Amino acid sequence: MTAYDTNNIFAKILRGELPSYKVYEDEHVFAFLDIMPRVPGHTLVIPKAAARNILDIRPDDFAHVARGAHKIAAAAMKAFEADGITVQQFNEPAGGQVVFHLHMHVMPRRDGVAMLPPASRKEDTNVLEQHAAKLMAALKAG
Ligand code: AMP
Repeated sequence: MTAYDTNNIFAKILRGELPSYKVYEDEHVFAFLDIMPRVPGHTLVIPKAAARNILDIRPDDFAHVARGAHKIAAAAMKAFEADGITVQQFNEPAGGQVVFHLHMHVMPRRDGVAMLPPASRKEDTNVLEQHAAKLMAALKAG
């Protein structure tokens, strides 16, 4: 498998070299909004550890990402008055992966509302700011 590339977009976000709409951070994971959301509130949870995908991540680091996604899912249900959550995680180009730092998509869903196709449109910055604030408020409320 191809080696981890330290210059991938999400590695740059983790190092603060590129901006992001941060939603949550702890010792092990970082969560931020997808800038081309498939649904409002579409969030990405990534490990702080360098990992390309499920094929090279340490199981403990993958478990940290799962914990992060679990936390975001609960907050997204409240923040977006959702009826459900879709979680996706792609590995290697054949598996649908485009950015090569492991990430878990957490997407709040509404009954009868379809997801947009991947990378359909870049969301407005003010909308992303509002959505990040809503998610952070829901996380804080617990
Ligand atoms: P995939 O690798 O297929 O799981 O998809 C990568 C995801 O990253 C897509 O949903 C993109 O919209 C998203 N994405 C790409 N660049 C950025 C960025 N700078 N900030 C936030 N999300 C991004």
